[in-house]
Amino acid sequence: MSERYQNYINGSWTDGSSGDVSTSTNPADLSDVVGEFQASTVTDADAAITAAHNVKESWRRTSGLARGGYLLKAASYLEANLEEYAQSITREAGKSIVESRGEVGRAVALLQYYGVEGSNPVGSVVPSVNPDILLYTNRMPLGVVSLITPWNFPLAIPIWKMAPALAYGNTIVLKPASAAPYVSTLIAKMWEAVDLPDGVFNLVTGSGGSVGNELITNAKVAAISFTGSTRIGMNIAAESAKRHKRYQLEMGGKNPVIVLPDADLEQAAEITVSGAMKYSGQKCTATSRAIVVGNVMEDFTNLVVEKTNALKIGPGADPESIIVPVIDHASKENITSMIERGVADGGTVLAGGGAPSGDLYDKGTFVEPTVINNLASDAYVACEEIFGPVLSILPAADADDALEIANSVEYGLSAGIFTKDLNSVLDFADRIEAGVVKINGETAGLEPQVPFGGMKASSSGDREQGKAAIEFFTQTKTIYVDRSAT
Ligand code: NAP
Repeated sequence: MSERYQNYINGSWTDGSSGDVSTSTNPADLSDVVGEFQASTVTDADAAITAAHNVKESWRRTSGLARGGYLLKAASYLEANLEEYAQSITREAGKSIVESRGEVGRAVALLQYYGVEGSNPVGSVVPSVNPDILLYTNRMPLGVVSLITPWNFPLAIPIWKMAPALAYGNTIVLKPASAAPYVSTLIAKMWEAVDLPDGVFNLVTGSGGSVGNELITNAKVAAISFTGSTRIGMNIAAESAKRHKRYQLEMGGKNPVIVLPDADLEQAAEITVSGAMKYSGQKCTATSRAIVVGNVMEDFTNLVVEKTNALKIGPGADPESIIVPVIDHASKENITSMIERGVADGGTVLAGGGAPSGDLYDKGTFVEPTVINNLASDAYVACEEIFGPVLSILPAADADDALEIANSVEYGLSAGIFTKDLNSVLDFADRIEAGVVKINGETAGLEPQVPFGGMKASSSGDREQGKAAIEFFTQTKTIYVDRSAT
């Protein structure tokens, strides 16, 4: 029988009120049940929100230095337990162990960064027109913040939200994706291990429809930070706006790279395949479209196909695997039906195209790395997020045409260009509609000390990470003190 895990509310591990549980399974071997998790209800979500609400004043009054101290202790704890956390990410989310170790390392870096940020200035003194007036600004925490997160970075995404939230004095409730709740119980374990005061961090597992909705609509919640699909995100925006709640949404992508004729084609193909196929394309910043200008199309395509066919498909526990299982059966079905739709719309499959077969693959949710060409740039598959190992190669007449194609989709998260020409680089950096711009680099892969976010349907609200996080997790007060009257 698999182990049963509890919610973490007000510093205690507790069962959900429904008595029901849901299971999480290993995508590389669906018979391996990671655990049973509370199918929590509105009552449980409310208990977690109330716990966070009850301590918001004491946490606000805890100094930034002391708050940062908890984060630094958590960073050390995570570093000491890196392998356990990485193995858990691989088991539950299917990620290659190499990338899972990288994810834990990134979470450590985020905790260290915001641990130090706890001692940085949160306001400024500004000269007043009246010499008797002390005029200053102060950044105040928002109060209770709900964090609603996806399964694909089950450690790093919750941490990149909660580290600044806590450092700037907010209390939080985390609702992880139902596909990867185990890793979030490890996050709770981390806060328990470093004696974070009860109620400052709370975890509630359960479905988006019940728990998630309460985390948005409950009157005690001041703000919602969400990462996930654009469809759910837009609903959260509408519900939050109705209630005057602050929201921050990081959503889908359809990330392009442009290949200009002067590019180093070998390097461009290598980086494109890596960006499209690692973690089986299940990154919001994964490369999804390669837009190729001029007569290098054939050479570039051949290189991409050759490199794609060389990728090892296997479970994430094998460090050689690049193409790992996708998160679940529904996702596998969706990806393969998207490939079929691409073919029905005139596309030609140059590599992959279906699910691999054999004992190793039949027990998990594997999809072959797939390259498609001959699609129109406005074909559904060339415009919609697939969230799988599928790359479309599209032709463009010149650099302007390539930019137009790149910008023609509703998303605007990450984008890259391959060229040696400085003017083309600067023109691209100015005109591409994307929040992350890579020059001769992979669309995926971010550093935590700089802002992250997208444009158009990829993001709403303030940027995450780096110094930018303070914008979302605090609000500014402007204070006038008339010393002549005191
Ligand atoms: P998802 O289906 O949108 O779910 C995200 C979270 O929202 C989950 O915790 C989910 O809970 C919850 N949720 C579902 N319905 C809800 C509702 N009605 N109210 C409140 N919460 C609700 O996304 P996903 O499949 O987990 O993740 C993949 C998506 O995330 C992709 O579109 C990807 O591009 C995006 N993503 C974006 C970024 C970025 O930074 N831009 C990073 C990573 C991923 P349940 O799991 O219980 O349904």
